[in-house]
Amino acid sequence: LFSSVELAPRDPILGLNEAFGADARADKVNLGVGVYYDAKGHVPLLRAVREAEKARLEAQLPRGYLPIDGIALYDAAVQTLLFGATSPLLADRRVVTAQALGGTGALKIGADFLKRLSPAAPVAISNPSWENHRALFENAGFTVQEYPYYDAATHGLNLDGMLNALSSLPAGAIVVLHACCHNPTGVDLTEADWARVIDVVRARGLVPFLDIAYQGFGDGIDADAAAVRMFADAGVSFFVASSFSKSFSLYGERVGALSIVTASHDEAVRVQSQLKRVIRTNYSNPPTHGAAVVSAVLNHEGLRATWEAELGQMRERIRAMRRGLVERLARAGDFGFIEDQRGMFSYSGLSSAQVDRLREEFGIYAVGTGRICVAALNDGNIDRVADAIATVVA
Ligand code: PMP
Repeated sequence: LFSSVELAPRDPILGLNEAFGADARADKVNLGVGVYYDAKGHVPLLRAVREAEKARLEAQLPRGYLPIDGIALYDAAVQTLLFGATSPLLADRRVVTAQALGGTGALKIGADFLKRLSPAAPVAISNPSWENHRALFENAGFTVQEYPYYDAATHGLNLDGMLNALSSLPAGAIVVLHACCHNPTGVDLTEADWARVIDVVRARGLVPFLDIAYQGFGDGIDADAAAVRMFADAGVSFFVASSFSKSFSLYGERVGALSIVTASHDEAVRVQSQLKRVIRTNYSNPPTHGAAVVSAVLNHEGLRATWEAELGQMRERIRAMRRGLVERLARAGDFGFIEDQRGMFSYSGLSSAQVDRLREEFGIYAVGTGRICVAALNDGNIDRVADAIATVVA
């Protein structure tokens, strides 16, 4: 049966992690990771999460099935985080939200639903994008193309290129947009940029699919949702895949959601019924623990304040590391763009040859594209990293 099965290509980032694990140097640093590390270099377990988990454990609840679209109080809390408590869309019950298996699971059920709805629509993702976007939409049966996004010359956004490409897409094309903290570049759109994108989306009749995996890691919970809220105000129908993997440091619990903005409550009811069919035939219903913890935190005033403070500390620590790196690299060149970028990642501008040198000579691991995880820097390794980068760019 399996004699003709070929070996699939290795995931480049997992390969990097394996090489890092096997490296015997004591002062090695892994900047290739995709998770937030605290100042001590650990994946944090947030206090708000610990307290909610303790209460859940003590309550000794039975383990029945969840509804197909998950915990209702969780879905409602997701909507408020994304659209804001006073959103008229929520008052009009025009948004369908389903708990999903992380941001990835949300993208997947959204893609499967769209495939039934618009089987021939092309999907456009940013160049570059999170590496799973292309594979995920291709696996759902779509043809995937790229729109220009990152401008290597300015270390910023190629807005004109992006707008031109979006303008030439056919009506109904699906456009995947990173709502904040773009992975892998760290380059985000300003609100003025978003307004221009929204104009094109509306004029061309495109279908926006917003991916927001880092809400709260850029400028704040509400500020990072600005794009979502601008699309909501624009009166278009769109999709939002959101994730608590990073903002709650709950990576392995797979906590995310898909929200679909429709034109009316009647539409929402019909869309919800079809989305539930997609979920039912994929995994039937989502797991309980992670979403119950997030729901308990978001729906409890005290725990929520604790979480917002902890999220703020993570955000500020990342920004302090960006600042620290720029300051330490000032002698080697102008790296100010690293401070302008947002979220965990930065396109550092390092070439793949420079990344190789960092690894071979200094035990510092980064992705070949020059992507570094700023959240893996701390006071104990930042001097060494900056010295090494200064050496390889000299
Ligand atoms: N979208 C983007 C842009 C991401 O960077 C990630 C995770 N790295 C995801 C989605 C998926 O998140 P999750 O781990 O919650 O599935």
